[in-house]
Amino acid sequence: MSCRAAPWGRPSAPRGRPFPASARLHSPFGGMNSWKNPVLKNSWRIGDVPAMFGLPSGLFRCMASNGSGDAGFSRPQSIDEAPMPLYPWPDKQRPRVCILGGGFGGLYTALRLESLVWPGNNKPQVMLVDQSDRFVFKPMLYELLSGEVDVWEIAPYFTELLKNTSVQFVKDSVKLLRPSDHLRREPGVSCTGGIVHLESGTVVEYDWLVLALGAEAKIDVVPGSAEYALPFTTLEHALKVESELKMLERGRFGKKSPPIQVAIVGLGYSGVELAATISERLKNTGTVKAINFQTTICPNAPPGNREAALKVLESQNIQLFLGYSVNCIREVYASEDSGSMVADAKEAGGGYKKLVLELQAAQRGLQSQVLEADLVLWTVGSQSQILRLQPPDAPYVIPLNGRGQVETEETLQVKGHPRTFAIGDSAALRDPSGKFLPANAQVAFQQADFAGWNLWAAINDRPLLPFRFQNLGEMMTLGRNDAAITANFIEGLTLEGPIGHAARKLVYCLRMPTDEHRVKVGISWFAKGAVDSLASLQTAVASALSPPTTPTTAPPTAADAATNRCAMDPDSEVAFDFPPYLCQYKSGRVHRPGGDAIAPAGTDPLTGVVSKDIHAGPARARVYLPPDASAAAAPGRLPVVVYFHGGGFVVGSPARPSTHAYLNDLVARSGAVGVSVYYRLAPEHALPAAYDDGWAAVRWVLAGGDGADPWLRDHADLSRVFLSGCSAGANIAHNMAVRAAAPGAVPEGAAVRGLMAVHPYFTGKEPVGAEAAFGPDVREFMDRTWRFVFPGSLGLDDPNVNPFVTDEARAAVAGIPCERVLVCVAEDDVLLKERGLWYARELKASGYAGEIELFESKGVGHAFQFDQLGSGEGVKLQERLVEFIKK
Ligand SMILES: Cc1cc2nc3c(=O)[nH]c(=O)nc-3n(C[C@H](O)[C@H](O)[C@H](O)COP(=O)(O)OP(=O)(O)OC[C@H]3O[C@@H](n4cnc5c(N)ncnc54)[C@H](O)[C@@H]3O)c2cc1C
Repeated sequence: MSCRAAPWGRPSAPRGRPFPASARLHSPFGGMNSWKNPVLKNSWRIGDVPAMFGLPSGLFRCMASNGSGDAGFSRPQSIDEAPMPLYPWPDKQRPRVCILGGGFGGLYTALRLESLVWPGNNKPQVMLVDQSDRFVFKPMLYELLSGEVDVWEIAPYFTELLKNTSVQFVKDSVKLLRPSDHLRREPGVSCTGGIVHLESGTVVEYDWLVLALGAEAKIDVVPGSAEYALPFTTLEHALKVESELKMLERGRFGKKSPPIQVAIVGLGYSGVELAATISERLKNTGTVKAINFQTTICPNAPPGNREAALKVLESQNIQLFLGYSVNCIREVYASEDSGSMVADAKEAGGGYKKLVLELQAAQRGLQSQVLEADLVLWTVGSQSQILRLQPPDAPYVIPLNGRGQVETEETLQVKGHPRTFAIGDSAALRDPSGKFLPANAQVAFQQADFAGWNLWAAINDRPLLPFRFQNLGEMMTLGRNDAAITANFIEGLTLEGPIGHAARKLVYCLRMPTDEHRVKVGISWFAKGAVDSLASLQTAVASALSPPTTPTTAPPTAADAATNRCAMDPDSEVAFDFPPYLCQYKSGRVHRPGGDAIAPAGTDPLTGVVSKDIHAGPARARVYLPPDASAAAAPGRLPVVVYFHGGGFVVGSPARPSTHAYLNDLVARSGAVGVSVYYRLAPEHALPAAYDDGWAAVRWVLAGGDGADPWLRDHADLSRVFLSGCSAGANIAHNMAVRAAAPGAVPEGAAVRGLMAVHPYFTGKEPVGAEAAFGPDVREFMDRTWRFVFPGSLGLDDPNVNPFVTDEARAAVAGIPCERVLVCVAEDDVLLKERGLWYARELKASGYAGEIELFESKGVGHAFQFDQLGSGEGVKLQERLVEFIKK
């Protein structure tokens, strides 16, 4: 018999492990030459193909042989037809490892094989086949919806990841598996492991196979589910959901539309994480309805994670339907006028589409329900595809369990197939207690490590290791700044909230496939603000792990805390605390816990507003142009809003995501050109640096962008310039108006038409109105923080922050050149509402000749609009500002 002698000099199966009896039982041939290869039978002539590809013919004869003589390929029926393209392995001697699927199992096995030291000429040639050209870090798909990550970060290209390795990546889809390693062989003879057929027609012959094809979403479950619901298991699914959400959000923008309704079927990990992410994204513009068959969520999660998740779901706009199953999903049309639902578009008179979910009570005592939704996401059920990849003439050649997963030995070898390993979601292995291992990334990742090692051992004739899963804990994301982590190695430890979120990101960053990608992603997340989260993580972990201290009789003071911290780390002794914005250490290091996440300038997909960062004279600004600026208005007809962000003069930037979203919204609604100013922040740049930067930007705008910027030059109406800002930004806007009153400050033809002071930051030594109820500590805090940002000032009697403190200051304010001033306050703004009201009152009393308007938002707090832009009060505030600009 002619067989390919093992070039690495070893028998075909691990030594000491005879082929198990199950192999023969599972063999469809039973030692008889009974199988025909439907794909190959008319295509190949043994002997022709090897010559064609420069391969030894013995190799093919081996595949065509089993113990009984000719059980591999049947002889070709027709020798005239074109041969199938055979994958040309570059080396004829070295072992050939074919890995199917490049997910957590497959890619990490390939990388593991690459990292091992191989004796002699034994280093295998490794081929990785995947239907996609990107590896997908699935646990972070949710972050695509929350905008926290970019596609390249969680779905890098295989070619990029493997560029410094010898792994050959092939983008193709697996069509058929033809293992031959279950066939009886003669002792001491090594044969190939089998062949794989790819969708492109390529046939791959291998010595060793790793099956890591994962699982697919099972969506065809109830009538209408395949048609109307979207799964969420691949990058393509996530991008589809993102685009559907964006369409719904866009359709609603600027209109008084009913809230967006998203239904999520299933409340396992995936459903819960999707519900939390989408609900946080929709805020007050929509509702999430989450349906679960069981009466609890995440039944298999550790209690700490489940409780944290429940807390988050209950605190958000999520309606839970527990104890229900979905019976069917239908599409209906809602009439534009009446909102009534009909099955036919014509009947609805061109209304809009809705989906209807019929829920059946799965628990006693519950009534069936009918829910409406704009989008349905299906997270229940998955299936393995191995069953349909088996040869039709030998459908059970690979042993599968009831869920279609490949049954493996503890060594991860497929039962009866010593040259085939199966790992990850497509494999089934029980733990020593008899329970199936969960289908998750942690298992796949750990199995990849063992599969790599066991392949090394098998190829080098060493004993194989049994796989043992180490459950390190479980994590789930619960929104942009929230997650729950239960770590098994520290009993009872559940990290929640921002710390859990930072810890989860850190773990995932470390789990990225290659050092290079890990570093790239780390830097990217660092730049997006992960640094502060990681700092808080460090603190939390340090405090969680530090031994409990003996209780003292007196509660510790702030000074004690500072001293204790100092004893741990001299760089952490607090010199100045400005909660919630900033803390400065004695070393001078400034820590801003809110991070410095950045939203890049560009086209806003929601509003169509375009923005860019430019130099505005000696300052910098982010400039915004409304959609269709050129078409909508004749040249030079758009008002200009110069905007100053808030943040106590110590934090914030036009690029902060909430500020950027706010400006996009304001510019879209008002049709104005927006100029959001980057000003220098205290304490690194104490006041008046921010005023000076602000004024440089205002001067630049009033000078028409020095004629150099096309957006201002071509679109701005310089006789309608508005100053605006929120909180400390409103203070800056006010001071800009005062500076504009100086003779010659405003160039000929330009005018500061209005001032919009939203929740303005002013203060003073003397309390006004309800401030009388503040304790001395509040006044002391205001004094301290003002002196911190403006060390050279007069304290609370500085006219910059107390504009009516002297007659001279009052006169300066009275002379501001704006025709109109709009002061906006928030009902629940405990610290600054009184000052806003006072500012409007005193301005009037100062003799200011223009109009003063006052607007109060109800039931909301300071600067609420950044978190609640789409809420009722958020929209009212924006509309009030727009009315002021357009008047
Ligand atoms: C949204 C989501 C969130 C998750 N979150 C977590 C989590 O937080 N923690 C956790 O532990 N687990 C999580 N999981 C589960 C985890 O991602 C999987 O268990 C893990 O990816 C399984 O790894 P795998 O290698 O078996 O399969 P996968 O990672 O799915 O990889 C399979 C690969 O095979 C390829 N493939 C499939 N069919 C073919 C074919 N016919 N031809 C060629 N290539 C093919 C696919 O393109 C894919 O690249 C999550 C899963 C999803 C979908």
